[in-house]
Amino acid sequence: MARSYVREARRRVGPKRERIRPIIERLLAEHPDATIALQYRNDLELLVSVMLSAQTTDVNVNRVTERLFQKYRTPQDYLAVSPEELENDIRATGFFRQKAKALRGTMAMLLEDYDGQVPRHMDELLRLPGVARKTANVVIAERGQAEGIVVDTHVRRLSQRLGLTRQEDPVKIERDLVKLVPREYWNVFPHLLIWHGRRVCIARAPRCEVCVLNDLCPASRVEVVTNTSPARA
Ligand code: SF4
Repeated sequence: MARSYVREARRRVGPKRERIRPIIERLLAEHPDATIALQYRNDLELLVSVMLSAQTTDVNVNRVTERLFQKYRTPQDYLAVSPEELENDIRATGFFRQKAKALRGTMAMLLEDYDGQVPRHMDELLRLPGVARKTANVVIAERGQAEGIVVDTHVRRLSQRLGLTRQEDPVKIERDLVKLVPREYWNVFPHLLIWHGRRVCIARAPRCEVCVLNDLCPASRVEVVTNTSPARA
């Protein structure tokens, strides 16, 4: 996209601070069902599901965990089997060797340092082997006390398209978003972008013509006439 066009598009939609609330409100109305797609019944299952979701789809993880959680109910259960058996049980999620190693390391630390419970805070979760900031953010947010904003591939793409960040690095994107998104929406905001990204703002073929944000989005491919925009030649 030519620079002048980008500048013109940004001018047309206005400052991001003024757009963020309408963006959130419209997405809440559009995707009232936006929530985590991973299926879990307790904190341990949530943590395991999120760890397994790296580099695969939530649907795939749910397919695997449906059986996995019948067999592994406590941190001890993950350590009671051989590494190969655990690898086999999670094989379909991909990268199963690294994931099994991370799960075993995490379970050992949960037992040793946290009484077998999943800790509540970011700094504690980040100590767990194989738990990076995104995983920790998802776990904390699902418990209703978000300490940050989850940035996955959809959140990254939509934040950039909507002109909410110019960053590429997820940590820097999160830094921009937490300054912009009112705290009461930190939990739901990633879900809204993820669902909108799956249903409408698709990576290769965004459906701008049916998008409820097309007058607020500098990347919209639809000609939107607003009061502030001069008619284009
Ligand atoms: S207008 Fe287009 S690019 Fe912008 S959020 Fe909607 S679908 Fe995505």
